[in-house]
Amino acid sequence: MERNTIQRKVILEGIASLCHATVDEIFDYSKKFIPNLSFSTVYRNLVVLEDEKLIRRIPNKRCKDIFESTCKPMHDHFVCTKCGRFIDYGNGKHHHKVVDKMGNLVIESTKISYGICEDCLKKEALK
Ligand SMILES: [Zn+2]
Ligand SMILES: [Zn+2]
Repeated sequence: MERNTIQRKVILEGIASLCHATVDEIFDYSKKFIPNLSFSTVYRNLVVLEDEKLIRRIPNKRCKDIFESTCKPMHDHFVCTKCGRFIDYGNGKHHHKVVDKMGNLVIESTKISYGICEDCLKKEALK
């Protein structure tokens, strides 16, 4: 297999198995299979894969952007500000193309909510 093909395959597998991953996590995963892989190569691949709509990037103001596979239909995310957990929610119903109140065609929209997850809330209550 060509080198680029192997890199892409490993990176895509990494994203699929990690579910939600930052570029650092994808790099750590991929390095186990391709020891001489560089960080910039991983980053470059992520940009290409995103352009090809094989992965989607979720902006995350709490840490680095998160990548996930587009095999999963569009959905919303909840980020725990205590433990950093990334939780999928929503049924994606509002992710269909719609014309908004201003007359613009919305092709993609996703919501990110920040807060404290159920587990962290329980831990807080025990204190
Ligand atoms: Zn939490
Ligand atoms: Zn997700």
